[in-house]
Amino acid sequence: MIKLKKEVIKYAKKLNSTNLSILRSGNISLRAKFKNIEGFLITPSGRKYETLLPKEIVFVSLDGNYDKDGLKPSSEWKFHQDIYLEKNEANAIVHAHSLYATSLSVHGKLIPAFHYMVALAGGHDIKCSKYATFGTRALSRSIIKALKDRRACLMSNHGQVAYGDDLGKAFELAEEVENLCHQYLEAKKIGNPNILSKKEMISVLKNIKNYKN
Ligand code: 13P
Ligand code: ZN
Repeated sequence: MIKLKKEVIKYAKKLNSTNLSILRSGNISLRAKFKNIEGFLITPSGRKYETLLPKEIVFVSLDGNYDKDGLKPSSEWKFHQDIYLEKNEANAIVHAHSLYATSLSVHGKLIPAFHYMVALAGGHDIKCSKYATFGTRALSRSIIKALKDRRACLMSNHGQVAYGDDLGKAFELAEEVENLCHQYLEAKKIGNPNILSKKEMISVLKNIKNYKN
């Protein structure tokens, strides 16, 4: 358990050191089992990442229980819970208020196939979930919708979320999403970019499986 908690801290610190999510924004979780109960380890709410200790990482069961005497889990534990319940393949989740993803999210629009790497999120585009107050089940429901057949999405007027087999992959996908948002915003400065056809994206989706593992 201590090893997994340290892994969560490593990536929480990385949110700051890579500038993917500054200050106390964003959160990290990792699927885990504690006393034979299925659940996940998640960063505590509102804590600075640089001083996080393993004992401050919170275990939340898949049915939403946690030790009420300890630190509060991230205010977003509900969407982490729902992603783990919904997606068997999700073992780790990264949520970030990254600059370019957030800048795009305030327009509430999806990222179309302006670049073939959009396929890294699992489909022909990257959706943007409808706005709802942070920490609510309503936000969670809208994220689950936007994550249909996808491993990442933008969150309206908020940021982005990505999941993967492990924290390394989830984090890398969040970085890729951020990079795509940056490129898309740059491309939009001189007009509307050409969008790849459905046929082309089907071919990309086939080939990208061999590119990333
Ligand atoms: P927490 O510190 O509660 O995880 O909040 C950060 C955040 O990004 C909320 O959306
Ligand atoms: Zn947030």
